[in-house]
Amino acid sequence: MSLVLHENLSLKPFNTFGVDVRARLFAEAHDDHEVRQGLMLAADRGLPLMVIGGGSNLLLTRDVDALVLRMASRGVRILSDDGERVVVEAEAGEVWDSFVRWSLAEGLAGLENLSLIPGTVGAAPMQNIGAYGVELKDVFAGLVALDRQNGELREFSLAECAFAYRDSRFKREPGRWLILRVRFALARKAHLHLDYGPVRQRLVEEGISSPTPADVARVICAIRSEKLPDPAVLGNAGSFFKNPLVSAAVAERLRRQYPDLVAYPQADGQVKLAAGWLIDRAGWKGYREGAAGVHAQQALVLVNYGGASGSQLFALAERIRLDIQERFGVELEMEPNLY
Ligand code: FAD
Ligand code: NAP
Repeated sequence: MSLVLHENLSLKPFNTFGVDVRARLFAEAHDDHEVRQGLMLAADRGLPLMVIGGGSNLLLTRDVDALVLRMASRGVRILSDDGERVVVEAEAGEVWDSFVRWSLAEGLAGLENLSLIPGTVGAAPMQNIGAYGVELKDVFAGLVALDRQNGELREFSLAECAFAYRDSRFKREPGRWLILRVRFALARKAHLHLDYGPVRQRLVEEGISSPTPADVARVICAIRSEKLPDPAVLGNAGSFFKNPLVSAAVAERLRRQYPDLVAYPQADGQVKLAAGWLIDRAGWKGYREGAAGVHAQQALVLVNYGGASGSQLFALAERIRLDIQERFGVELEMEPNLY
């Protein structure tokens, strides 16, 4: 196949905030060959190359003077199956949630808590996606990436990816690695993670005492649909800020001042604060400034009511960040990738 190039294309359909900026050049890569073609084309034209998947973790604040390459490669295959552990490989352009549903239909456990996360398989390692007590690293079995510095393919093991909370080596070395395919170690026999948020409670309410991975996925999809705005209806990029990690002393100081503080002690002695609670407590929930706003049900999610620019959304985020810093002495870090 050969790349089809579009010039001066609106990226509105390609980012879940629905921000209307233009790409100087745009193309979709369906396989490794087209990825390499994209890299060569960008170099020939003297343009940077920006790779995207589903655009669900992006905040675009200006026109993109680059070749935007959207990963559209497809394919899922079982690499090995010893009756217990099943290693599966998926191409970067696979839609994450379709892949999760495929795995469940195959009777494979491990991805159920990561149901309904938007985006692609290839972007999932970027921030080590996580939800309901499970992170990508818990089921990760390796990946293949193209080193954009020398054009060579490189295999990465779990340790080499340096996964951390919403973070990875790939996020820390922006623009270097183009992830082509990812491998997952799934299980025929489920070890379910039910102790996070309302998951167990919801299963009990449904009268399910021995849940299957598919039950867990269904319940999590239901909870997510109730709490989170659907980007197809209301533009957003999920959580706008990471949950801040603070020292036990800072958490204790805040707890004395705010007895209802939502805080989770971590294994390393730090304490994770719920950024949504801080923003809510500071009075931002439901706040609206033109077409940019803070979601009325979930304070961690910034929304585009229609027509907001990336700069407007970013300006609102900055006001929130400074306010949280002033009120609580806590630094919030933005989660989506800023352009
Ligand atoms: P994009 O937004 O297209 O790209 C994100 C970054 O990855 C960019 O820097 C891009 O350059 C880079 N990138 C993309 N593909 C590749 C590739 N193949 N190789 C190298 N770099 C690449 N995230 C969570 O962790 N947990 C959640 O529960 C969650 N829930 C969400 C709910 C909603 C409603 C929304 C809108 C977002 C949510 N997110 C969540 C954030 C987002 O869905 C994930 O981060 C997702 O993995 C992003 O995938 P994407 O394909 O859309 O990436
Ligand atoms: P929630 O259940 O209302 O919980 C609020 C916050 O408290 C979450 O951010 C979560 O941290 C933390 N938390 C809850 N229970 C916890 C526990 N038992 N141990 C440690 N931390 C706990 O959150 P929500 O907004 O509805 O989201 C539910 C899950 O989906 C969360 O895991 C969240 O990360 C994920 N999610 C992520 C995005 C995104 O864009 N990144 C968007 C929507 C939902 P964690 O975030 O660290 O889990």
